[in-house]
Amino acid sequence: MAIVAGGGKKQYRKYGCSQHWYRGACSNNLLERQIWLEKTLLADLQAEILKPEAVEYTITQFGEQLKATLGKLSGELLKCENARRQLRVNYADDRNGSPHGTLDISDSGNK
Ligand SMILES: [Zn+2]
Repeated sequence: MAIVAGGGKKQYRKYGCSQHWYRGACSNNLLERQIWLEKTLLADLQAEILKPEAVEYTITQFGEQLKATLGKLSGELLKCENARRQLRVNYADDRNGSPHGTLDISDSGNK
């Protein structure tokens, strides 16, 4: 849908099917005044959006997205916490003369 008529000072701008008016590829020759269409569309949209079931749906969807995101985040936090704990353990072990990683191989005979 596009503005396909009007644009001059005297004429109303009108919406129509661009495939019909510019290419003749569509049989839909409906024309509607831009002002009327936009006002009506906006009013209808507002009325639909503010219906209790629409508000309810939006809140439910938002809640589910939020739960999913929080679930992912706490999973990530847990991973970070575990990694941090592991780093601490490794660090403490290193300071106690029990190195990790490649050094374990060369030092393994000392234990
Ligand atoms: Zn069309």
